[in-house]
Amino acid sequence: MTRWITRTLALALMLAPLPAAAGKNEAPEEKVEGYAEWWEGGLLIVDGQRVSLPRGGRFKAHDEATDFRSIPLGYEVKAKGHRDRSGVLVAKEVEAKPNHDDAMFERDLSESFDEIEGKYLDRRRMWEEDEDGEEEDYGRLRTRGPEVERVRGIVDELVPPYLNAENFRVYVVDNEEWNAMAAPNGAIFVFSGLLDALDDDELAIILGHELVHATHEHSRKEFKKAMFVQLLAAGVIGAAEGIDSDGKRMLVQTAALFGAMAWQNGYGRSQEDQADRVGLRYAFQAGYDVSKAPALWERFADKYGRESKVANFFFSDHSASQARAVRMRSELARNYSRAVLSASGRP
Ligand SMILES: [Zn+2]
Repeated sequence: MTRWITRTLALALMLAPLPAAAGKNEAPEEKVEGYAEWWEGGLLIVDGQRVSLPRGGRFKAHDEATDFRSIPLGYEVKAKGHRDRSGVLVAKEVEAKPNHDDAMFERDLSESFDEIEGKYLDRRRMWEEDEDGEEEDYGRLRTRGPEVERVRGIVDELVPPYLNAENFRVYVVDNEEWNAMAAPNGAIFVFSGLLDALDDDELAIILGHELVHATHEHSRKEFKKAMFVQLLAAGVIGAAEGIDSDGKRMLVQTAALFGAMAWQNGYGRSQEDQADRVGLRYAFQAGYDVSKAPALWERFADKYGRESKVANFFFSDHSASQARAVRMRSELARNYSRAVLSASGRP
């Protein structure tokens, strides 16, 4: 009897969570997912966050990433762990693998945007077409001149080191709205109104955000979701099968249409948040003053917040741009504290 009780107690103790470990106001476990974009003194920058993997942490290796320190830039990284006081995510587990997922979608999407960009260039204008073929003109397309040079210079600095800045093309559209967008094929459009209103730090924050939609393939990810739903509905593919040639044709045909839609409607909330976080990192790494970000969102809120008509891609669905300002403030506190900013020795 006593032995039974002892055994049961021992078992109960084993199964119960240990209160000692759970206490001590430890930070909650967090996950970080994104691409390896910079190494900063032993810390890997992923999703705009600084990640370390201490000795004893688990590492799931793939291809060239044989251990944490060997993760090549551009690899897809998942990490989970706890933040330390300086905001570094101290991982318990990290997985790194090459990013050549869905290359087919990427190509199709990119090609459909090449076509759109070609049309803009032919006409020297940017416009959008609705379902009825009704065109809305956005303005003259500039491919050179001081405004284009200004954007070009900033974009060249923002592009992370594992990507080639030459793959991004820069255009300025004569339009007084505050607007900017990056297409998945690497074409970046900036409205002249935004250029007039913003200084270079602010412009870098916006362009950083837009670049992230391209570098993190947000269109492809949204597109893939939407296309699978459509293809499934059309009976072209079964849930677990690949896409046959009919499916492929449909996919390519729909790509252009979908691309235009994604531009107009903006991305999902989590992708917008990622673009904010990582875009801030792009601007910081390039030496821009990212502390201007919260006030910048407030300016957007002042200008567009109370308008119902939103002819603005960048701002698109961002009615909560004050909430964004708040999130930017906590992101600055977490990753770009005064110490970090001054230690970086950047202007
Ligand atoms: Zn966005």
